[in-house]
Amino acid sequence: MVKVPAAYSSQQCAQCGDRDKKNRKSQSEFLCLKCGHTDNADNNATKVIKQRTFEYLRSKAFLNGKTKRKIAIRKKAVQVVERPSLDSKGDVSPEIPATTVDA
Ligand SMILES: [Zn+2]
Repeated sequence: MVKVPAAYSSQQCAQCGDRDKKNRKSQSEFLCLKCGHTDNADNNATKVIKQRTFEYLRSKAFLNGKTKRKIAIRKKAVQVVERPSLDSKGDVSPEIPATTVDA
């Protein structure tokens, strides 16, 4: 079906998308240093993965087979999440399609 990378999902904020090792306070606790979002770490990771799945499906529909840019887009992931109005059309594909790079 759909492959979504789980890499870093435990460090990424489900609310603002910020990704930082320090966000993961402990094995079970997630605290975003950027927006203050707190959650159970597993719960947060689940949300992140769900978002990635959704984004992936959306980006796939947008790209329609043109996936060459996925690596370049991936590097902008954090900034894109912070500025959703900048190019929220089809250029937003936060680190989704790179299925193996971080796995
Ligand atoms: Zn956050």
